[in-house]
Amino acid sequence: MIQEKVGRDRNTGIMEELLLYILDNNIDEIVPKFSFQLGFFYPEIMKISTKYRINDQELLEMLVKHKYAIRELHDKYVRCPYCKSYRLLVQLKCPHCGSTNVSKVTLVSHVPCGYIGVLEEMNISEGKRICPKCEKKLGAKDKDWLQIGSLYKCDKCGELFEIPSVQFKCVTCNKTFGYKEAEYENIYKYKINFEKIKSLTKKILLKSIINELKKDNVKVEINPQLTGLSGLKHTATLQAKKDNNSLLVDILFEGEIDDIMSIYGKIIDLGQPNHIILIPKNISEDLSLDESQLKIVKYDKISDIPNLIRKKIK
Ligand SMILES: [Zn+2]
Ligand SMILES: [Zn+2]
Ligand SMILES: [Zn+2]
Repeated sequence: MIQEKVGRDRNTGIMEELLLYILDNNIDEIVPKFSFQLGFFYPEIMKISTKYRINDQELLEMLVKHKYAIRELHDKYVRCPYCKSYRLLVQLKCPHCGSTNVSKVTLVSHVPCGYIGVLEEMNISEGKRICPKCEKKLGAKDKDWLQIGSLYKCDKCGELFEIPSVQFKCVTCNKTFGYKEAEYENIYKYKINFEKIKSLTKKILLKSIINELKKDNVKVEINPQLTGLSGLKHTATLQAKKDNNSLLVDILFEGEIDDIMSIYGKIIDLGQPNHIILIPKNISEDLSLDESQLKIVKYDKISDIPNLIRKKIK
């Protein structure tokens, strides 16, 4: 039971780190890439999957399970049924005798005499192909002779056929197999559900702030109840305390920037010297703020916030 809970908590932690990483890097789709060494892999999430030694697929399925991502078919590929490798060589086979000794040939018609046959099988005289029926030179393409199509010819049994059989040879385990035995695997991509993630961002962020500050023995209270000079009740995103130092923090995300005016009023009413507001860097440039009254801290990425607060409390 306890083991199970530990595993679940660990996975939640990993997933939350991944969600912050997705938000910070604006990843809207996680698309697989292929390498002969790794097979299909997902470069966008590799930083997290290698850090925690967790399988890419397992990590992505966690996102899907919690509806943070939607799984979509990216493509389908053949893989070896014996060792699951995608490192395959493709061979063509004669459907009649099974030999791989087949050649592609050109079917032509000689216009003057109406002969139909295989171009590559005609005799050559003085560098020119000779028609086996009228024994004259074949002449000019598209005028004296026409290409009707391409065929395969078995060099073992002599059979002519339009569609050869396919055989795969696995480079990894050396076994051969046909399309009947082949595994035809779905390869998925993952679309990020930003709406769902954003509703959770603050919760994840607060959790990581608490964890980060715990290392420095800083206590964090979320949404503390405070009374202003006017007697009005206020709250802030969090209050951090270490020894006799205290820091009040309000955190604004991109969509919440209009709240800055009410925060301004609150800061004046509370009159606490250590009250900072964290706002996104890209937004703050368009904003004219009275920085003599407001202690603004600009953040570039959401994942930078815990460390920015950490620096302020020291
Ligand atoms: Zn194999
Ligand atoms: Zn054959
Ligand atoms: Zn002819």
